[in-house]
Amino acid sequence: MNMTKDKLKMIPCFSCKENMPELRLVKFGYKLCVNCSDVGAYRAVSTINGSGDHTWNDIQIMTPEQYSSYEKIENLNSKALKTLDNKEE
Ligand SMILES: [Zn+2]
Repeated sequence: MNMTKDKLKMIPCFSCKENMPELRLVKFGYKLCVNCSDVGAYRAVSTINGSGDHTWNDIQIMTPEQYSSYEKIENLNSKALKTLDNKEE
């Protein structure tokens, strides 16, 4: 019995020619292996939610794209928070 069809088919990375799962290309559209692509490395970001006494920590898993836009929003938020703090004092 030949069970090799159950194994992941490997194709060469378009950049470094290392083997990578063909699934990366057919399913996710990535032509590059994880080493060459910055897509695929997910970031875990701990966030603080709520306000006042009702805060809780959470962990969000983000793609690099989501993470960079998150960082921008965070920077804007911290600026906005500083402005708010100044007003309250
Ligand atoms: Zn590669």
